Amino acid sequence: ISEPSKTFRNGVKIPQLGFGVFLVKEREELDKALNKALEVGYRHIDTAMIYQNEAFVGEVVKNSSIPREDLFITSKVWNYDHGYEETKAAFQATLDRLGTDYLDLYLIHWAAPHYIETWKAMEELYEAGKIKAIGVSNFQIHHLEDLMAHTTIKPMINQIETHPEFPQNELHEFMQEHGIIHEAWGPLGQGKNDLLNQPVLKEIGEKYGKTPAQVVLRWHIERGVVVIPKSVTPSRIAENAAIFDFALTTEDMARISTLDTNTRYATSPDDQEFLA
Ligand code: NAD
Repeated sequence: ISEPSKTFRNGVKIPQLGFGVFLVKEREELDKALNKALEVGYRHIDTAMIYQNEAFVGEVVKNSSIPREDLFITSKVWNYDHGYEETKAAFQATLDRLGTDYLDLYLIHWAAPHYIETWKAMEELYEAGKIKAIGVSNFQIHHLEDLMAHTTIKPMINQIETHPEFPQNELHEFMQEHGIIHEAWGPLGQGKNDLLNQPVLKEIGEKYGKTPAQVVLRWHIERGVVVIPKSVTPSRIAENAAIFDFALTTEDMARISTLDTNTRYATSPDDQEFLA
């Protein structure tokens, strides 16, 4: 695939399409899915310590013929590893499990207490060249403002729940003003709420010979958002990558905007119980 990319403010590029591996915990399942993804052209992999599959991702990467520098690997520091020393240790453990000596992107998974100290450790790891780009996930505007007020390097990306029913318009605009790239998790709405059966997505898809999932992913791409759809079904893995041979019109984009109900499908970043 000839994939477009987004450029962080330090010049490093992130492929706009990645492969998410949340909930793919079995070695064999991960092995099959990720190998299929690499075969059809994905070069960006999104994992996290808490997904419990970094070691399996590492095995696939090691056994593939793709040079490490041609891959873009993201992982994330989990809530109970927050703090300066804790983050450094968690990062090293992630590298060891992945069997690599650097990450392309490391994210604070959620804005749990002590994210400032966590960020300071990430700034150092970045300065030392062990991470090519650093960012956050599930940060609201108030978290971003607080982080930027107390640290040196601005986050380069924020990975947040985003889909047509929850486009995150306000946060999207705030991030644009601050040069923070928008990355969507749950880009397909996690297969929930019958999103992909919305007639408007089907109708638009029919014009281009594309599925509702492809229309949704293309909508993200045209908003300038990085997407990391997940699937373990080979045909869907290929389908989700076949989104660079058509374009939506302004009218299509406007029709998709009508699906906005400002509804989260998953946990709120302000859920204090979850963050504790
Ligand atoms: P997603 O929106 O990618 O949805 C995945 C589900 O959609 C699949 O399990 C399947 O049921 C369905 N699906 C996939 N392709 C389809 C297709 N072509 N047609 C019809 N249905 C299809 O949701 P996700 O996996 O939660 O999010 C993607 C990635 O984002 C994750 O794998 C993970 O890497 C990341 N993520 C991050 C966070 C975070 O807190 N930072 C949270 C959730 C997910």
